[in-house]
Amino acid sequence: MPKKQGFPGTFLSYGEEYLPGKNAFEGPEGNIHSSSVGEVVFDEKQKVVSVLEKTRQPELIDVGSIIYGTVGGVNDSKAFVDIFEAQKNGNLRVSGSASAVLMVFNVKEEYVKDLHELFKVGDIVKARVLTVSKFTIDLETKSDPSLGVVKGFCTNCRVPLRQFHNGFKCPNCAMEANRKFSNDYLLKH
Ligand SMILES: [Zn+2]
Repeated sequence: MPKKQGFPGTFLSYGEEYLPGKNAFEGPEGNIHSSSVGEVVFDEKQKVVSVLEKTRQPELIDVGSIIYGTVGGVNDSKAFVDIFEAQKNGNLRVSGSASAVLMVFNVKEEYVKDLHELFKVGDIVKARVLTVSKFTIDLETKSDPSLGVVKGFCTNCRVPLRQFHNGFKCPNCAMEANRKFSNDYLLKH
């Protein structure tokens, strides 16, 4: 039998059948309703109905979280990333502000003169969270070879780039592409 979910106000039982337990209340009409979100549990022995909230609340992005995001803008020294997924040790994280910055000196060990050469608007990137503040999330892609662009798009025709044995190319117009590529690139030939 599927587990019944309770939401604030959900009817749980008639007042004469059960007593209100945890996260349940008796409404003015005498019936029992949920006051929270969770699984509805009927204790047949005690004749109590309760709503058990999920014990694991999603945690916020913190230092060391791995994020996936879309490059929304690039200038000489910064790439702006809109986060759409974040996780740490396999557990999903909630992205609060969801907007992050990758500074040019956090991209790779070698000196990078112009960030435009390594990230393009629309690219999907995998990055690690360096710092989280009230104002921004700082990212880095230099601590692990899996960090960087995991899916890039041809700047000529917008077709997803593919990884060939001798480099990254557009399968449509054959233009070669340069990026800070991840070694986990998604589209291998
Ligand atoms: Zn192309």
